[in-house]
Amino acid sequence: MGKAIALVTGASRGIGRGIALCLAEHGYDIAAVATSADPNNPEKGLYEVKARVEERGQRCLPIAGDISQRADHAKIIQAALDEYGSVDVLVNNAGVAPKQRLDILETTEESYDRVLGINLRGPFFLTQAVANQMIKQAQAGVRFRPVIVFITSISADTASPNRAEYCISKAGLSMVAQNFAVRLAPHGINVYEIRPGIIATDMTAAVKEKYDKLIAEGLLLQNRWGTPEDVGKAVAALAKGYLDYATGAVIEVGGGFGVKRL
Ligand code: NAP
Repeated sequence: MGKAIALVTGASRGIGRGIALCLAEHGYDIAAVATSADPNNPEKGLYEVKARVEERGQRCLPIAGDISQRADHAKIIQAALDEYGSVDVLVNNAGVAPKQRLDILETTEESYDRVLGINLRGPFFLTQAVANQMIKQAQAGVRFRPVIVFITSISADTASPNRAEYCISKAGLSMVAQNFAVRLAPHGINVYEIRPGIIATDMTAAVKEKYDKLIAEGLLLQNRWGTPEDVGKAVAALAKGYLDYATGAVIEVGGGFGVKRL
């Protein structure tokens, strides 16, 4: 098997950055996608991540692209292929919260379409394109361990009616993962879903106090915020094949959020 390549969306910050760095620690070269890539800004964004990946001894290609735009998918994949020649691991991590938390009785079409476009439609079609590329590589006799990971959320099965469109996008993405797991199994491509819990990133910064309080009151079994590295380590375990016989698995990385208690 040659050097493995991981395509990680939303790798400029937060969970995606944590995933890219963990995969780099485990020997992966990275194709890192975000909405913008500015080589003049080594302090922040994809070029900061590139420097951290290189410190870990691997290569990193920053790619600017909007995953909600199908036209960008071909460009993203082609950029990765031009640089590395293959895509071995896809991590569908990029995602957004609603710009404003609005009660389900007030949700706007604009927010619904934006969130569903980025969180659900985008990764569906990007995965379709990458899966076809992986099948092509397998048929060409390339030896690799193909893995696709979807980063959904505990919101996939936890209702929050002040951001219903987010929960709906993640519930839908969970079913996307199941469908690709079924369809790609005969090709030896394993597909997994990771459901992060409450992770400290820009996305949760606006609701920090609310979650600080809930965690202090015992919401989780493990009494702390999650970190991007917590999610990154789970992705690395999947990519490295430690859950090889578990395609389709749904893995919660949420400090025990989902355990029912009485
Ligand atoms: P974040 O800090 O807000 O980072 C989001 C990332 O996604 C950024 O890299 C951003 O790129 C990228 N992105 C957003 N829209 C994109 C688009 N249209 N095309 C390409 N890239 C795009 O969020 P995060 O907390 O790390 O969340 C990452 C994923 O985990 C999301 O899918 C989120 O729903 C999920 N999640 C998060 C939590 C949590 O507690 N934080 C919990 C469960 C699940 P730019 O820098 O270019 O904007």
